[in-house]
Amino acid sequence: MKEEAIKRAKALDSTDSLSTFRSQFHFPQRGGKDCIYLCGNSLGLQPKITSEFVNEELKNWQEKGVEGHFTGEKPWVSYHKNSKDSLAKIVGAHPHEVVAMNNLTSNLHLAMASFYQPNGKRTKVLIERGAFPSDFYAVYSRIENSGLDPKKNLIELESSDGSDYLSTEEIVGKIEELGEELALVMFPGVQYYTGQFFNIRAITAAAHKVGANAGFDLAHAVGNVPLQLHDHEVDFAVWCTYKYLNSGPGGVGGLFIHERNAKNTELTRLSGWWGHDSEARFKMDNQVNPIPNVDGWQLSNVNILSHSSHLASLKLFDEAGIENLRAKSLLLTDFMEDLILNSEILKDQIKIITPSAREERGAQLSIYLINHGKSVFEYLIAHGVILDWREPNVIRVAPVPLYNSFTDAVNFVSILEDAIRNEG
Ligand SMILES: *Cc1c(COP(=O)(O)O)cnc(C)c1O
Repeated sequence: MKEEAIKRAKALDSTDSLSTFRSQFHFPQRGGKDCIYLCGNSLGLQPKITSEFVNEELKNWQEKGVEGHFTGEKPWVSYHKNSKDSLAKIVGAHPHEVVAMNNLTSNLHLAMASFYQPNGKRTKVLIERGAFPSDFYAVYSRIENSGLDPKKNLIELESSDGSDYLSTEEIVGKIEELGEELALVMFPGVQYYTGQFFNIRAITAAAHKVGANAGFDLAHAVGNVPLQLHDHEVDFAVWCTYKYLNSGPGGVGGLFIHERNAKNTELTRLSGWWGHDSEARFKMDNQVNPIPNVDGWQLSNVNILSHSSHLASLKLFDEAGIENLRAKSLLLTDFMEDLILNSEILKDQIKIITPSAREERGAQLSIYLINHGKSVFEYLIAHGVILDWREPNVIRVAPVPLYNSFTDAVNFVSILEDAIRNEG
């Protein structure tokens, strides 16, 4: 790597106001050194304060037993309320529109039970071609369970030019074409494979214009890109918290329901006791009185251990500020892209399939290998870089603003050059 790039990275790191957050995370070690961790889009690193948060609840359980439900600083009975303010800032919502519960796919099923109600001609769901398997299976089975044929009603939008990129015009055009046959648009915020950040506002508006609902899977968007779910009138959104939100493997998921929908008592939902009037919850009188906000979609009492781990990470997001994170993220992703595109060694060997426009991406670059295969990825792993591989030929790299540095970007690109050179 050129001296000049190293110098530039050092200068950018020295003026980075978020650089101190790096030391608040545990980095996997290789040969006594921190790995170059570029996999926060798959599993975020563990904050050092997480063990304190989890241990606090283990201790409460030890010392209080069942009384922990109603006593102490954060009684378990209302523990889900502790994450609301932080989550609301991250997704651009009111606190009463967001709740952490279950996992992503189960929340998607719960949301679709309310927002996919096929009726007459209106039976179709629009997703993107190459959707994440869990989302595909969830939508497929939901259509099937509604007594309809998924082959006819699950519409997968493919780019007209055969590329991985879907323009807003193409998406809106398809929504208009489906018109009154369209029941639900179920799109990602950020596509897991390409890293494309979709125009949530335009997609939602187009869906509403034809009388359909719009829901989003924010697995790769939450904690990564700016979101305004409330103002963009999104009907519902679901997410997981173990990617950019660093809440630990299989950590608690999230759900957003727009307040106008939550107040709609006509909307059907799958119910459990935690979604019912909390005042009457322990009267055991079986009166149906669902909570008129997103909490009304809760089924079960709160998974305290995974939620406590979630709170630890959210504390860091509150401290860093989501706008500051985005500002650094834009610089960091641009910087890494520049290094790759200006490398004589890499230039003809790779293609970045993530959109180059800032408003169409977050902290991810998906690098397609033109002439080489998985051995390049294996070289990177063997040389202390942690990132991930997606078939057929893509390396996904996530420079995460909370704990990655500009120097990480230089070091990664330098090892990637070595990997290509090593191929001969
Ligand atoms: C990571 C991810 C999931 C994971 O689903 P879980 O229910 O949390 O296992 C689902 N969808 C997308 C798009 C993802 O990126």
